[in-house]
Amino acid sequence: STPRTPLIAGNWKMNGRLTMARELASAIAKGAPAGVEVLVCPPFPYLAPVAVTLQGSAVHLGAQDLAASEDGAFTGEVSGEMLGDLQCGYVLVGHSERRTVYGESDDVVVAKFQRAQAAGLVPVLCVGETQAEREAGETEAVVGRQLDAVVKAAGIQALEQAVVAYEPVWAIGTGLTASPAQAQAVHHFIRARLAAIDAKIATGIRILYGGSVKADNAASLLAESDIDGALIGGASLDADSFLAICQAA
Ligand code: PEP
Repeated sequence: STPRTPLIAGNWKMNGRLTMARELASAIAKGAPAGVEVLVCPPFPYLAPVAVTLQGSAVHLGAQDLAASEDGAFTGEVSGEMLGDLQCGYVLVGHSERRTVYGESDDVVVAKFQRAQAAGLVPVLCVGETQAEREAGETEAVVGRQLDAVVKAAGIQALEQAVVAYEPVWAIGTGLTASPAQAQAVHHFIRARLAAIDAKIATGIRILYGGSVKADNAASLLAESDIDGALIGGASLDADSFLAICQAA
């Protein structure tokens, strides 16, 4: 048995309209099972209306990104404090689409991680290798580097109020899923790397798997001992699929 409560997180990305966001949130609020922590991360403009929809339910609200800076002259940015005002408890940090499409470096990801915690949010730190990196045998080097950047800057204690998501880039939105054994191996690597610094924090931290998780492959991934939940993109836009994954946890 593990002391870790499973966390199932939906990353809606830039999808849907207001009506869909409300309906999806409402269905998830009604159907979320007990014993699992459920989190939804809608697009920024829908955070406030979804917060209203989720009122009185156990479902948590998170954002997909935040500014690396404190409030100020940063046109178009959204600060962690603003997200806190909207009832967000979590925020994704360093999602592979932010890293690759928007060029976020480890330094930017570290700054966002620290800004999230300064605002009282729990960062979900996303790490993962590309296909080319995996084929070159660099998976652990890449994931280790992404993890170390945060640990070094924020300190190991900061990981006590954080979640890690292992998301192999080649499995995101592609329909390709890491096998349970492939995912478990990297999850174990991440936990061991943290355990080498602080065993208690390593035991307590939740490490989610992400990358084409669906209702039909969730149970086998979640059965692995170091997989403590999932970060879901595509399948989080359908209430029945998302709830089936929550049930599998
Ligand atoms: C994601 O973007 O975090 C993700 C895992 O997407 P998908 O489930 O669509 O692969």
